[in-house]
Amino acid sequence: METKLRIAVQSKGRLYEETMELLSEAGVKMTSVKRTLLVPSRNFPVELLFLRDDDIPESVAMGTADIGIVGLNEVLEKDKAVEVIKELGFSKCRLSLAIPKRIEYNGVEWFNNRKIATSYPVILQKFLDKNNIKADIHVITGSVEIAPGIGLADGIFDIVSSGSTLVSNNLIEVEKVIDSQAVLIGSKKQKLSDEKQAILDELLFRFDAVKAADGKKYILMNVPREKLDEVLAVLPGIKSPTVLPLANNDWCSVHTVLEEKRFWEIIGKLRNAGAEGILALDIEKMVL
Ligand code: ATP
Ligand code: MG
Repeated sequence: METKLRIAVQSKGRLYEETMELLSEAGVKMTSVKRTLLVPSRNFPVELLFLRDDDIPESVAMGTADIGIVGLNEVLEKDKAVEVIKELGFSKCRLSLAIPKRIEYNGVEWFNNRKIATSYPVILQKFLDKNNIKADIHVITGSVEIAPGIGLADGIFDIVSSGSTLVSNNLIEVEKVIDSQAVLIGSKKQKLSDEKQAILDELLFRFDAVKAADGKKYILMNVPREKLDEVLAVLPGIKSPTVLPLANNDWCSVHTVLEEKRFWEIIGKLRNAGAEGILALDIEKMVL
């Protein structure tokens, strides 16, 4: 039987969409859209094990799955024998302490002898120990943000991204404890077979190519030959852009790659320098 690398992924929730998108951009196609527990890819030697995100660190630590894709927050909270192989750059958020906004906050000592509601007791306890704070941790698994409002706790320790949930519950973030994002994890104890390691290496190579292309545009433009030097001077950090002849000898075509966030700034300069017929294309993959 063909060796497959088994990847534990979230079955539904905030990580699901972007995990599937990353795999798809890396050219990994799945056989069925229907989510059964274990789904093989139809063109790449991997299979996906769909789990709740809480169960992903342990499944990887035990070797039930070879690798997993999960939030760093969940990795740190579960504290299993896993290691981060790669940061994936999506599902960015942070874990923070927050308190009712009407309260005057004078530093982390405020939490001494207070009651804190959270779904992340392990990470919170480590933070409190490090700061010599003795507080009462109250574990709840959902809607942590309403705890202070109903008198269940003095403050909360929870995931924050935009902060709008805090605002609508009259809370204010007072201490950021960790930054989190989706990460690829592997077992600290179970070594992958050479075959599986080779599959993982290929997958990581493809993830890098997808990431490198992120936020970049491929630009083509026509430039009068006499303006070529001026146009090339505008292009940022390109050692050697491609310059191709056109049927009309007075003109040439210049191709290059631009950061999308600088697109409008640079396009303006290119037009002023004499470039015409500028085309911008999405780049799917980039192998450096
Ligand atoms: P499950 O049913 O799998 O246990 P869950 O309810 O525990 O799911 P989700 O809400 O789907 O978890 O969130 C999964 C992960 O996505 C979180 O652990 C965190 O890493 C990340 N995340 C959560 N909220 C946000 C947010 N607002 N912005 C960005 N990332 C987030
Ligand atoms: Mg969960």
